[in-house]
Amino acid sequence: MQATIALLPGDGIGPEVIDAAVQVLETVAKRFRHTFTLTRWPIGAAAMRAGDPALPGPTREACMAADAVLLGAVGDPEYSSGPSERRPETALLQLRLDLGVFANLRPARVWPGLEASSSLKPELVTGLDLLIVRELTGGIYYAKPRGRTDDGRAAFDTMKYSKDEVERIARVAFENARQRRHLVTSVDKANVLETSRLWREVVTQVSTGYPDVKLEHQLVDSCALLLVSSARKFDVVLAGNLFGDILSDEAGAVVGSLGLLPSASIGGRGGLFEPVHGSAPDIAGGDVANPIGAIASAALLLRYALKATEEAAAIECAIGATLAAGVRTADLQGESDGKPASCSAMTKAIVDRIAC
Ligand code: NAD
Repeated sequence: MQATIALLPGDGIGPEVIDAAVQVLETVAKRFRHTFTLTRWPIGAAAMRAGDPALPGPTREACMAADAVLLGAVGDPEYSSGPSERRPETALLQLRLDLGVFANLRPARVWPGLEASSSLKPELVTGLDLLIVRELTGGIYYAKPRGRTDDGRAAFDTMKYSKDEVERIARVAFENARQRRHLVTSVDKANVLETSRLWREVVTQVSTGYPDVKLEHQLVDSCALLLVSSARKFDVVLAGNLFGDILSDEAGAVVGSLGLLPSASIGGRGGLFEPVHGSAPDIAGGDVANPIGAIASAALLLRYALKATEEAAAIECAIGATLAAGVRTADLQGESDGKPASCSAMTKAIVDRIAC
């Protein structure tokens, strides 16, 4: 197989975790005799420092032409106080829109052996395995109008969803549930929000086409509670842009670390694959970041964009074996554990298990 993958390392720990994912992709290419052309492009603050917009034209074009895009993270404290259109994060919002990737899949599972890293008691999380399906190109992150009033004393955003937007993301959730445990929990705030009432109505309609999948509705506040009291009850969690964003960070703490979570954004051109975490400026440059979210995102890229199922499974198997062998980056460690593995040591441990 031949494929072109556009790499967007971005800011903070982005370049470190993308380097890790590249080592893994190169190892997979060698073992399975594929040719991956990997090209690197600036995005976010990395692009802005060079005097370019956060999403430079050549970066956008390379992403549109590639078979898939692998992104590290964007965001930098130096640019955090500017107007929203001058922030590194706008590059990512624009890129998702341009690629048309409306469906964001965020699998979250507790890897065997990592139960003690969870924020919860091991007996609450053992075997936890859920998939958050988040709508990615609509809702309050994109809808207009937004802005400040003329006197600057108030600000406003618009929460808006169309029937078509809800229908297509609901179908993604039901299709995925069919491959899993046949349960969709749809998250909304239908007791207060009009958009949520439409969301609930449309999801219920779509569910009639999937009689083999059970549908439950959950208000977002009680869903947040259930995620920390009985998360194992969930299979596929379907949510809009804002609620899905918040709940998936919560899922990060439940599975042991935000640094473990991968994501796949699909439904449009190629696909955009990125760890759920941000640029983590507090640990950037120290070779301490957990690279598993980025490495597992590379596995999702192989599975969803390149249909390379065996190769994706080889990566996930190597991650599982590495964690089962007790290798832990600092975010996964207990206080009494020994010296943590660095980002590069964790990467090497995973690469060695793919290569063999
Ligand atoms: P963050 O995800 O960057 O970090 C939250 C906490 O988790 C920090 O303590 C960090 O050290 C830790 N963490 C994150 N990833 C880790 C990893 N791989 N290994 C070990 N620890 C890890 O969220 P934040 O601090 O709220 O945001 C920082 C910047 O990232 C902001 O500019 C924000 O806008 C941006 N951001 C970008 C994305 C993205 O690019 N997709 C997502 C979220 C936040």
